Amino acid sequence: MILNDYPWLSLPYQQLATGIMHKRAHHALLINYVQGSGEDEFVSTLVNRLLCQSSPQLEPCLKCHSCQLFLSHHHPDYYVITNEQGKQSIGIDQIRNISSKIYEKSQQGGNKVIWIKRAALMTEAAANALLKTLEEPPENTYFILSDEHNSQLLPTIHSRCFSYFLPVPKLEQSIEWLKSEQNQQYSDNELASALLLSENAPLKAAALLAPEKWQQRKAFCDQLLELVPQNNYWQLAKTFDNEDFIERIVWFCALLSDALKAKQKVGHFIVNRDQVPLIRLLATKSNEKISALYHLWLQARNQLLTITGLNKELIIYNVLAQSELISETKS
Ligand SMILES: [Zn+2]
Repeated sequence: MILNDYPWLSLPYQQLATGIMHKRAHHALLINYVQGSGEDEFVSTLVNRLLCQSSPQLEPCLKCHSCQLFLSHHHPDYYVITNEQGKQSIGIDQIRNISSKIYEKSQQGGNKVIWIKRAALMTEAAANALLKTLEEPPENTYFILSDEHNSQLLPTIHSRCFSYFLPVPKLEQSIEWLKSEQNQQYSDNELASALLLSENAPLKAAALLAPEKWQQRKAFCDQLLELVPQNNYWQLAKTFDNEDFIERIVWFCALLSDALKAKQKVGHFIVNRDQVPLIRLLATKSNEKISALYHLWLQARNQLLTITGLNKELIIYNVLAQSELISETKS
């Protein structure tokens, strides 16, 4: 079976490919996904099936001329649109370029497929240009729009599409999959932690479990274990002198959130299952202090992600200083 490497995609694929097989697929499909759940492989396979000209089955035949062209990345009736390198949006010209082509006859005599990747990055003008095409779609032309589940796509585009949420597997299934992907050196608690930190998206968790990355997280947690009792947040400054500093902020927020859960005795919701001693340590602080720290760090993350041109060092230093103040006060 195609998509064999990602067993959780099998059922979703069957659901959508059935429509293609019976020639009643919606001409505009919107796929929302959790990043790192195999979304690109999934869409690629659907595209392949739409382009295949000889398969009577759910799966593309992989042998016909059309499949061969697709597999060699040279299919003339297939277009991918996404933000160009270094750009944060998909512009109207990119949509217009395609619109002029898709009203012509397909070159291979089959379907034409347009995949708009990270669709929410379309500017309003680009989205409106696409809307016109979606309202009067050319024959045998299929659009697949894809983006993360929390992205903001214009409601007018949304309403023209058949929406599909690509599900992530259950935690137990993801753990089994990670084990089969050469992660045997990790305990179940570590695998669960990596998954829960990754919205249960297996490929994202696998990236986090890459030895160097996982070691960085471990070192960060070890540092907290040492520095939190001394209320010495300044010592953490070096840790954030790294291109992945946002990720570390997210790790810290997840730990604080776990400490609150531990205090409220809802331990089964804990994310960092491999860091129980650290969570217990953080949970010795009052609810008020943990919440204040959590909001402080979360706010810093949001600022750093949404406001361009901020002085990163200044924000981090400020947050570290504030963290010491919060921890010092009596309550
Ligand atoms: Zn084929």
